[in-house]
Amino acid sequence: MNIILFGPPGAGKGTQANLIQDKFSIPHLSTGNIFRTAIKNQTPLGVKVKAILDAGKLVPDNTVVDLVAEELKDEKYMNGCIFDGFPRTVAQAEAFDGILAEQGKSVDAFVSLVVPEEELIKRILSRGEGRSDDTEEKIKTRLAIYRNETEPVMNYYKEQGLVSEIDGLGSIEEIFDRIKTTFS
Ligand code: ADP
Repeated sequence: MNIILFGPPGAGKGTQANLIQDKFSIPHLSTGNIFRTAIKNQTPLGVKVKAILDAGKLVPDNTVVDLVAEELKDEKYMNGCIFDGFPRTVAQAEAFDGILAEQGKSVDAFVSLVVPEEELIKRILSRGEGRSDDTEEKIKTRLAIYRNETEPVMNYYKEQGLVSEIDGLGSIEEIFDRIKTTFS
C-alpha cells in the first residue's frame, strides 16, 4: 500500500508515519529526514541542500524527484511505503505518478492532517528538536510556501478521489485511531 501522509509543517506527519510503520510494517520515507541526514554527513546532496533547508525553502523538484526515484528502487519498498513530506508540489506529484506507473504501482491513499496555523507554530516552537528551520521567522516562511505550493497537491489527488481529511488535533493515539479507520 502506498500512502501519502500530507499536511503542513508541525501537523504530526513524522509521528504518525512512525506509528503506521510499526503497526502495518510499511516502511516510512521522509524526504526531510533524508535531507537532514545528508546535511549531517556532509554528503554532496547535503552540501547542495543545506542553505535551502536552513532558509525553510523548497529543494528543487528535480533533485527531490530523482532522490525518491532512486530510493524506491530499494526492495524494502516493494509492498508499499508511507510518503512523508513528498510530493510537495504539483510538479512532484505528476512526476511521482510516472515513477510509480513505471513500477506498476499507484498511490492508494492520501491522508491529510488538518491542524490550524496557530497550533502549528506553537507545536514547532515547543518541540525543541533544535532544527535550524524551527525559528518563528522560518516557520512563517515554511507555512507560506505550504499554502502556495504544497496545498494545491491535495486538489491533484482529490481529482483522483484519494483524499481523506483527518482532524489533526487531539492526542497522538486519537489521531492514529482516526487514520486507521481510513485504511479499513
Ligand atoms: P516539515 O514538514 O516540518 O517542514 P520536513 O522534514 O518534511 O519538515 O521538511 C524539511 C525541509 O526539507 C523542507 O522545508 C524543505 O526544505 C526540504 N524538503 C523536504 N521534502 C521536500 C520536498 N518534497 N520538496 C522540496 N523540499 C523538501
